[in-house]
Amino acid sequence: MKSELAEKLRANHSILTQYVGVGDGWYHIIDSMLTCIEYEIRHVETNRAWRIKNNQLTDLPEIPQIEFCDIKEKFGTMRVHCTGTNARISGIISMAEAISCYTCEDCGNIGKPRGKNWIRTQCNECFVERELTRD
Ligand SMILES: [Zn+2]
Repeated sequence: MKSELAEKLRANHSILTQYVGVGDGWYHIIDSMLTCIEYEIRHVETNRAWRIKNNQLTDLPEIPQIEFCDIKEKFGTMRVHCTGTNARISGIISMAEAISCYTCEDCGNIGKPRGKNWIRTQCNECFVERELTRD
């Protein structure tokens, strides 16, 4: 990912501190995933505060302390490794990873996994360009 895009992600999402090892085409998937995760964390914080204020202290939800270890590409799809999630955040991450299977990693258009030895999810145009520039 271009450094200015990675910096923009880190500037807009304080929960992201790690290097992002995927192509520019997946920028919007990661941006949306982080926005949804931040929304979920705020939701849990609000819920927890309301319960404490109203003395409903049984099953008090834990505030997720998410920490990203790695965001990378493997076998043509995005893989997100992190700790400190809850069930809803795990679902958000799974959905983002699934969307990467249909999104060109180079440009963000609709794509599909291509290649035999080295799999990369690409649209038709980016795939043809890669084939033409191959040694
Ligand atoms: Zn493309």
